[in-house]
Amino acid sequence: MRVSIIAVGTELLFGQTVNTNAAYLSEQLNLMGFDVMYHFVVGDNPKRLKEKLIDAFQDTNIALLTGGLGPTQDDITKEVVAEYMGTDMYLNEDVRYDLVDFFNKRGKEMTENNLKQAYLPVGSTPFYNATGTAPGFALEKNGKIAICFPGPPVEMRWLFENGARQYLEDYVDKKMYYRVIRTIGIGESDLETLLLPVIDGQTDPTIATYAKEGECALRVASQRHSINEAKAAVLETLKEIDDIIGKYIYSYDDKDLNDVVVNLLKEKNLKLSAAESCTGGMFASSVTDIPGASEVFILSYVTYTANSKIKNLGVRASNIEKNGVVSPEVAIDMALCAREKSGSDISISITGYAGPEADTGYSAGEAYIGYVYGGIQGYLKVNTSRNLREWNRKYFVLMMLKTIYLLITDKME
Ligand code: ATP
Ligand code: MG
Repeated sequence: MRVSIIAVGTELLFGQTVNTNAAYLSEQLNLMGFDVMYHFVVGDNPKRLKEKLIDAFQDTNIALLTGGLGPTQDDITKEVVAEYMGTDMYLNEDVRYDLVDFFNKRGKEMTENNLKQAYLPVGSTPFYNATGTAPGFALEKNGKIAICFPGPPVEMRWLFENGARQYLEDYVDKKMYYRVIRTIGIGESDLETLLLPVIDGQTDPTIATYAKEGECALRVASQRHSINEAKAAVLETLKEIDDIIGKYIYSYDDKDLNDVVVNLLKEKNLKLSAAESCTGGMFASSVTDIPGASEVFILSYVTYTANSKIKNLGVRASNIEKNGVVSPEVAIDMALCAREKSGSDISISITGYAGPEADTGYSAGEAYIGYVYGGIQGYLKVNTSRNLREWNRKYFVLMMLKTIYLLITDKME
């Protein structure tokens, strides 16, 4: 069954509000087995909303609308939907009772315009709203179904879970199962090229690659008549994918790399320390985003100047003088010092240029990651060739995590 989502609200067009409602509904509807064909965004304008309803129902049978159900003048969704479907509005006594009750309980006077929320299209199925005052509803006419939700995300989600989902179940003709694989160390185009034998001619499961910041994800999805069938098809394809690109995969469940690394360290009972320069503590922050990080993470030294690397970490001054502070030798020294001072099993370091500027002879986005683990020590050179400070710093952290991941899974080449 094909569906559209229409988000109503001028604030969405201004960019003041991000259209998270469409993202949420899309994800849920896909999981239920619907084919989401279109997202429309339209301002609080009756004429243009009507045009979008026409567009949506040209190609899909169900349209989900969010926003514009409130009491104010610019809330027009209900009226436009009713008009489009050729129905009148009526005063729903239950909703009116709830509204009066809502205001009474709060000791507030109900303004006249609030009553507007108790009007619903004739023939609609109301979804009572326990999280706000405006109810949602579904309206079916001649095989077309419009389902309307209030705009506030909390209310929209509540009504989806406590009304719309059950209503929609009757219209599901397929079930969807999907998995998201996360990879690192391979670009999107290389990934697709390697996977061509699996991707080519494949209609179900579908395989989609998409680039995330500094890494690549792969979504394998199947829609079948039963969830078990869909799951079996996805697992079969996952096996084929694993045979080809297994060495780049770090998660089969859409887990972030910091999450995977912290849990691997836990599993292997390894303690981690770090010495950061250009990431300024972002590595420590990323590691400690994960619950239970305290079991594996001892500390990170943030030594931003050359002098603090010498004084606080114990890096040899002669090393810095000879090789420069952004160098493989200093990176390794930083990692060695962090390990020695903290007593960790594994230590990671970084020294580099976050940008937008870099010293002569270097480029912004150039950094050296040092590592020590048991008898292994070494470095990784990173060069993003970008002068985007924020991007570079995030990428550096990702590469530090990647280095740890490769070391502790014996995948380091
Ligand atoms: P209310 O009764 O609160 O007025 P409403 O149904 O009239 O509800 P809107 O007035 O359109 O909804 O939006 C209310 C608020 O909900 C917006 O200010 C915005 O913060 C949020 N919102 C609206 N649409 C979306 C959307 N598509 N995604 C995320 N948030 C949204
Ligand atoms: Mg409103």
